[in-house]
Amino acid sequence: MSHNPIRPWRDIARRKARRIMVGDVPVGGDAPITVQTMTNTITSDVKATVEQVQRAAAAGADIVRVSTPDEASTRALREIVRESPVPIVADIHFHYRRAIEAAEAGAACLRINPGNIGSAERVREVVKAAKDHGCSIRIGVNAGSLEKHLLDKYGEPCPEAMVESGLDHIKLLQDNDFHEFKISCKASDVFLAATAYQQLAEATDAPIHLGITEAGGLVSGTVKSAIGLGNLLWMGIGDTIRVSLSADPVEEVKVGYEILKSLGLRTRGVQIISCPSCARQGFDVIKTVEALEKRLEHIKTPISLSIIGCVVNGPGEALMTDIGFTGGGAGSGMVYLAGRQDHKMTNEKMIDHIVDLVEARAAEIEAAKAAAE
Ligand code: SF4
Repeated sequence: MSHNPIRPWRDIARRKARRIMVGDVPVGGDAPITVQTMTNTITSDVKATVEQVQRAAAAGADIVRVSTPDEASTRALREIVRESPVPIVADIHFHYRRAIEAAEAGAACLRINPGNIGSAERVREVVKAAKDHGCSIRIGVNAGSLEKHLLDKYGEPCPEAMVESGLDHIKLLQDNDFHEFKISCKASDVFLAATAYQQLAEATDAPIHLGITEAGGLVSGTVKSAIGLGNLLWMGIGDTIRVSLSADPVEEVKVGYEILKSLGLRTRGVQIISCPSCARQGFDVIKTVEALEKRLEHIKTPISLSIIGCVVNGPGEALMTDIGFTGGGAGSGMVYLAGRQDHKMTNEKMIDHIVDLVEARAAEIEAAKAAAE
């Protein structure tokens, strides 16, 4: 059945995955697609790490991953978990002891590949620690670190090798009667990652963590992630996402949200629709949008806002947004509310005025929501 009977071309049929919990955040099933990021501080520097986790959470991160390469990190984890407003995933590579310590320290999820930690006994111990402490596990297949026997078999990293690697790791967990896991199969090559994820989505019902690894800097990495993750999400694949950028984790969260927002999969905060501006603009669109983005960062309620330079596209865009402003002549423009022309406002006072309108609308929506509950 269509979710959107008026605009069925906006529907995305989401792949049915099992639901697991990462702390108190559900991943998979009908749960909203979550946005993750990872800290890049030295984990044992608790103050810096907590500060970064809190900034990421304030920007909307649902889950944050922290690298735990040594004992000092897993020791620090206890306090980081205590101070964090969101569940913490501990990133472990080979050291099974770190995984056990992280579980004991309160990590909500362990990112670990059971096939990489040595003997069956070690896998059993890690799974036991995860069970005892209510941790889920993320299997993280990466094209850059595939097992040697798979590279020998397939000749190079390819979707089939990545999926086989993932299924091998899954089997180790299932053999230990552990089912609270999700899985990723990342590559920096968009084609490789997208194909591997599609095959993986067919091969398992586990929730899928999407990511294009080592995507690049803010602009190039954003474009690459939007293409790779965007295509997969559009196909209905993906239950949680992380955009990897060589940038502040807060930027990763913002980009992750923008990808989900553009596909209508998640809404949060003010979505600004604005024109690129040209000689017809009745006010400085670019500066205004920059200022509004900053001034409206604190709004979490989903609200759409159109900021358009002139009447060529202004009224049409305003029709589809909650609040709109369209540039006019003589230093003022038209304010639209719920798609309708409402009143004029001078360019000079317009930013303050729009901020007031958005804040008031957000308060109204929140009050109505609270009353309904
Ligand atoms: S809406 Fe008007 S100002 Fe904006 S780009 Fe189009 S023509 Fe130019």
